[in-house]
Amino acid sequence: MNAPIVTLVGRTNVGKSTLFNKLVGKRKAITEDVNGVTRDRVYDKVEWTGHEFILADTGGLDISNKDIMNQEVKSQVEKALFESDLILFVVDGREGINPHDSDIANEIRKYNKKVIIVANKIDRGKIPDHLYDFYKFGFDDLIAISAEGSKNLGDLLDKIISFIDFSKFDTDLDATRIAIIGKPNAGKSSLVNYLLNEDRMIVTNIAGTTRDAIDSYWQYNNKNYVLIDTAGLRRKNKVIDNIEYYANQRTFDAVDSSEICLFLIDATVGVTEQDAKIAGYAHNRNKAIIIAVNKWDIVKKDTNTMKNMEMDIRNKLSFALYAPIIFISVLKGQRITDLLNLIEIVDNNYHTRIKTGILNTILQDAIMMNPTPQDKGKRLKIFYISQVQTAPPKFLLYVNDRQLMHFSYLRYMENQIRQNYSLKGVSFIFDVRERK
Ligand code: GDP
Ligand code: GDP
Repeated sequence: MNAPIVTLVGRTNVGKSTLFNKLVGKRKAITEDVNGVTRDRVYDKVEWTGHEFILADTGGLDISNKDIMNQEVKSQVEKALFESDLILFVVDGREGINPHDSDIANEIRKYNKKVIIVANKIDRGKIPDHLYDFYKFGFDDLIAISAEGSKNLGDLLDKIISFIDFSKFDTDLDATRIAIIGKPNAGKSSLVNYLLNEDRMIVTNIAGTTRDAIDSYWQYNNKNYVLIDTAGLRRKNKVIDNIEYYANQRTFDAVDSSEICLFLIDATVGVTEQDAKIAGYAHNRNKAIIIAVNKWDIVKKDTNTMKNMEMDIRNKLSFALYAPIIFISVLKGQRITDLLNLIEIVDNNYHTRIKTGILNTILQDAIMMNPTPQDKGKRLKIFYISQVQTAPPKFLLYVNDRQLMHFSYLRYMENQIRQNYSLKGVSFIFDVRERK
């Protein structure tokens, strides 16, 4: 499930586990009055006013205490912070600022996430003046609560909800959104109608008949999808009236709101400039991409026709070599089953999560076969790789010096990963960070 992650951070004994248990409504982590008792990361789902998020507890991990923490645990916390959409920085409100709090503040500031300071243990009476000292950390908000006394927890939940952009996440229906894109007359409406098995849209031979993006729910192999049929794209100088501009903008919106972009190319026309432009946009937003060449039934074919067409597409859309190409005919129902299987594969790829252990084995092997680049006697060191996000997959690389990481070496890393996981249809994001 794709839900926002809210992470509890703070030094030991401030009440993170107590708060975690209160918010998820059950006893999960062991709460003890001994420093560092709860060590594991715990996750659970929290629902509030119709919204859902994952609450993650980093346990009694004191990220400021470098002696106690071994590297493994530290990277676990780093990963948790990196993945989170919101950080709850829990502090002891009775005690006020502790030097460890400042260290933790410096640590979490690096992640550039929204942060709410949760001043715990304000059980009764008025809010102590020293609480306002916490504002000096410069985070987004502060709230006083009592986890044990269940005070102000509703306000805290309201605040959490208000800090999360839920539009970025799946709604209640767990469905993959597929935008069907292509110039007018490519066969978009025909494909949607074919899949839905009904004449939901008017299909005509006049370019631009379907002007708006229409969402349709569709099921295949017990999986839910939303098909977004977009109005055709027009060339710039042909955008003459508002409706057409609007239709064009809708296409970009459809890409934004989708996970998979299915590009329909009219085989009788080939890849147009507009196709390339919108495909580039989809690529830059790291959408999964499938290219379907439609109307294959009316193309005069010899042995090289398919190969030439494929080469032309690869040339014009050279940024998306990972995107599979399939030749179909919606009218004749040719290879539509293959297309549907391809959608399923790409959907799975987009949501793949590769285990950190496996990634690091691939990394070690890759470095052995092709040593990292060096400059002026200094060699690039890659300490660690981890996938920190799915849909789209995002990989975090910790290196000694970012300047030494070349694009070509990242490309090489990508290819090494793809040898093990083809991840067809899916582009990679690499986040290269320095570790001191
Ligand atoms: P953690 O180290 O952040 O996981 O902190 P714990 O949840 O284990 O709590 C540490 C101690 O603080 C426990 O003895 C809790 O009972 C106590 N505690 C937690 N929340 C509150 C609170 O709101 N008020 C008071 N007075 N004590 C609390
Ligand atoms: P849209 O503008 O992209 O939505 O395209 P439509 O679905 O309206 O299709 C435009 C025209 O192309 C219609 O006349 C369709 O019947 C025709 N068409 C769609 N798919 C195919 C195909 O696979 N082969 C052939 N020959 N014609 C097709």
